[in-house]
Amino acid sequence: MSKATYNAYDEAKAQFDQIAEKIGLDEATRQFLRRPMREYHFTIPVHMDDGSRKLFWGYRVQHNDARGPAKGGIRFHPLETVDTIRALAMWMTWKCAVVDIPLGGGKGGVICDPRSMSDREQEQLCRGWVRQIAKDIGPCIDVPAPDVMTNAKHMLWMLDEFETIHGGRYPGFITGKPVGMGGSLGRKEATGFGVIYTLREAMKELNMSIKDSTASIQGFGNVAQHAAKLYQQLGGKIIAISSWDNTDQQAYTLRKKEGLDFNDLETITDPFGSIDKEKAGGLGYEILSGDAWLEQDVDILIPAALENQLTADNVHRISKQVKIVAEGANGPTSGEADKVLVQRNIFVIPDFLANAGGVTCSYFEQVQSNTNHYWEKDEVIQKLDARMTSAFKAVIDLAREKKLHMRDAAYIIAINRVAFAVKSRGWV
Ligand code: NAD
Repeated sequence: MSKATYNAYDEAKAQFDQIAEKIGLDEATRQFLRRPMREYHFTIPVHMDDGSRKLFWGYRVQHNDARGPAKGGIRFHPLETVDTIRALAMWMTWKCAVVDIPLGGGKGGVICDPRSMSDREQEQLCRGWVRQIAKDIGPCIDVPAPDVMTNAKHMLWMLDEFETIHGGRYPGFITGKPVGMGGSLGRKEATGFGVIYTLREAMKELNMSIKDSTASIQGFGNVAQHAAKLYQQLGGKIIAISSWDNTDQQAYTLRKKEGLDFNDLETITDPFGSIDKEKAGGLGYEILSGDAWLEQDVDILIPAALENQLTADNVHRISKQVKIVAEGANGPTSGEADKVLVQRNIFVIPDFLANAGGVTCSYFEQVQSNTNHYWEKDEVIQKLDARMTSAFKAVIDLAREKKLHMRDAAYIIAINRVAFAVKSRGWV
């Protein structure tokens, strides 16, 4: 599907339909699971710094909460659409199920560009989002978290508004909070680290050594940065990284064949994951086109930016050397591109398994917040590694046993778990 016609929700439904058919899911459960249980659309008025009033469009979609409260991030993005949020909510349901945590799937968003908003305007937006939906979210109903262009600061404003409305302290209402204010140690790193735990396991399966491997990454935000850090710590070499230039409004790739220097890049990256191209040039990086990250002669590709980045239009440009695609982002590979990866025998670690470390640690954060007892970082990281490793093993075991691709095997495990919960509750 080209970037212009791509619809993430259609993609998510098509993936679901294919597996529902494969496992012979009954019609009622199929209909129930292929759409969200509830969704909320609302407007958020914000008093802007220049004195004007601006209206923003906000959303929350609860796809399924049969296994536990809905769980999922809130994205701030100028191109956000309700269909993207529906897809992401559905993927959250499968994600929580595949790592077997007692949570359902939800997602939220606001159409906005926080990069061009002051802190005060962003705070008003966060508080406004919560005010519109405060009765329909909460620790036992639906627990939000950060996602694209939202972070711990936004979560704390949202928590504060929720607690003001409900008159109490409910730190389990939201995750991704700042450490010391109800946040969990390790949450910041969790998604990126989780990607690398699954990559490490995949490499064992394929008899590859991280030490001799090379990678190229799309994105340099929360997920990509922590994935890059751990991958390098384990001895891997990252030769290219792609990022979004907010001034030029286009993506570009930075390449250094001898391996990127994480410490250097970190100092020239803004809080939204955009690297200063000019300064990177000064540090000896080559500046290439936005898509160049996927054309590199590397063993591993990690798309960790946005959905629909590997498409029918560009998938053929992936180098013959690539053996693994570890999907850090949600929905980075279109259905057509996925077929090409399968034909080429590239081992894909599907998004809702690879990037489940974030929600797994969010679950740990919720447990800590609800019990008001906080764990040491080592404990969080060990538990995260154990959970990601066992989820990966369950998926690869099924894939081997039934001769399936990883995505299908992960879907079968997740959909069966959710279908079981829905039926056991007598909903269908
Ligand atoms: P982020 O906002 O911190 O970073 C996004 C990065 O992508 C930035 O470096 C930005 O410059 C880059 N980018 C944006 N558009 C691009 C383009 N067209 N080409 C190249 N680079 C581009 O976001 P994040 O939290 O790192 O999330 C990245 C992906 O991972 C998203 O799909 C998100 O839904 C998914 N995800 C995030 C988490 C989490 O815990 N943060 C958990 C699970 C999944």
